[in-house]
Amino acid sequence: MSARPGVVYLVGAGPGDPGLMTARSLALISSADAIFHDRLIPPGALAGAREDAELIYVGKQPGVPSVPQEEIGERLVEAARAGRSVVRLKGGDPFVFGRGGEEGEALHAAGVEFEVVPGVTAGVAATAYAGIPVTHRDDASAVAFVTGHEDPDKGESALDWGALAAFPGTLVFYMGVKRLAENAAALIAAGRDPEQPAAAIERGTWPGQRTVAATLRTIHEAVELAEVKAPALIIVGPVAARRAELAWLERRPLHGRTVVVTRARAQASGLATMLRNLGAEVVELPAIRIEPRLQSTAVREAAAAIGRYALVCLTSPNGVRLLFEALDAAGLDSRALADVTVAAIGPGTARALAKRGIAADVVPERFVAEGLIEALEDVEVGGRRVLVARAADARDVLPEYFERRGAEVDVVALYETVREQPDADAVAAAQVADYVTFTSSSTVTNLTEALGDRFPAAARVVSIGPVTSEAARAAGLRVDIEAERHDVEGLVAALLADATGQPPRSL
Ligand code: SAH
Repeated sequence: MSARPGVVYLVGAGPGDPGLMTARSLALISSADAIFHDRLIPPGALAGAREDAELIYVGKQPGVPSVPQEEIGERLVEAARAGRSVVRLKGGDPFVFGRGGEEGEALHAAGVEFEVVPGVTAGVAATAYAGIPVTHRDDASAVAFVTGHEDPDKGESALDWGALAAFPGTLVFYMGVKRLAENAAALIAAGRDPEQPAAAIERGTWPGQRTVAATLRTIHEAVELAEVKAPALIIVGPVAARRAELAWLERRPLHGRTVVVTRARAQASGLATMLRNLGAEVVELPAIRIEPRLQSTAVREAAAAIGRYALVCLTSPNGVRLLFEALDAAGLDSRALADVTVAAIGPGTARALAKRGIAADVVPERFVAEGLIEALEDVEVGGRRVLVARAADARDVLPEYFERRGAEVDVVALYETVREQPDADAVAAAQVADYVTFTSSSTVTNLTEALGDRFPAAARVVSIGPVTSEAARAAGLRVDIEAERHDVEGLVAALLADATGQPPRSL
């Protein structure tokens, strides 16, 4: 469903966890001409926007004059009238304390077509992540979303404290931190039981979500003591005590641990997602970047004549992707490999091949060049042509082996790994890391050189295998954990075993 020209979409981006964005919000973001967005949108929410899309920040920032509401309305109208497709992206749900109603009215008044795309609102998402069910058969048959901080220009309070105190269900206060003491006192004065359970949830569904539990009488002191800051919700009602059994978030095995991922950005997502799913806070600090070398004569010649090789060895999923790009450029596809024996260094590489319709003939038990060599013992190579397609700066173990066995070896560099300058914010975030993970020797060398004495000294170093460990030691690091299985799953399993003190289990 792509965004239509001349239409404004009022879109909810959910509470913060990118996984809670709706499919429709992502489809609209990826197709819109212009995106007007707030501050509290999930990290990476705009990553899928078109490269030529205009991204306009209209959120509030503490201490900075914000774009007035009328002006936002006017700018949305203007963009739509210019024939553009416009997404107005807001945190949570656009119609729950999001002023989406006012923006819709302004668009209607101007005769501009609009649509509303609901989002997961903080009131149900942050609570669910905190282990607080907003309704419960035994405890709460109703739930009320209440603003804890009214428009200061409004004059008389629109909140009926008597009605809220008597409300037979859960009260969920948005924007409730600043006026918490007054609001709690008003509820108690109006007759709500001061001993009723209450909770504050800070940064719900974001990394570092925190929940503070107390009673209605004590919640404002607890919040002050813990220095809870916006964005936060205040929950009042017996369901707040259900956390004792339902707080699943804090029970995830890597909860509270910060893990640095140093892979190239393009490859990092699998590892980062696996770690996040286990509860870790992930800092992406890519040390390298992949630069394809598909224009080189060696690559073009090898690709064009791929069918002449008896054996093709691939040493990474990137290599597979780029080899197929090179084949495509040569006007070929997977059929060109019909009579070729294909060897993959490990299961990730084999999976990348499988996606392109090639079942690898050889996948070793140990995912390093030496393992591949063992697995190739029975493959006839003497006097035959062998292609090793890999990174420019790889080790020479494989080519030397084939030469010893009398093969005619071509080694082509499909890509080069070049240093990525570390982002200052990520370096700062990495200082408190519990673990730094390394998945190749080039990430070790580049990261240690780039960081120098800013390398997080207290973090435990996790290496994917012996070659990477060797590079880490050479760079002056102590390797605390080395994966038994030399792939990303093996690395996560080893880290998890270290963090939980339990033996590795397969993931
Ligand atoms: N439209 C949004 C609410 C915007 S009002 C929604 O539907 O969620 C802003 C208030 O929402 C904040 O002051 C806070 O009370 C609440 N809020 C938004 N995101 C939150 C989060 N991730 N965790 C806790 N509260 C959040």
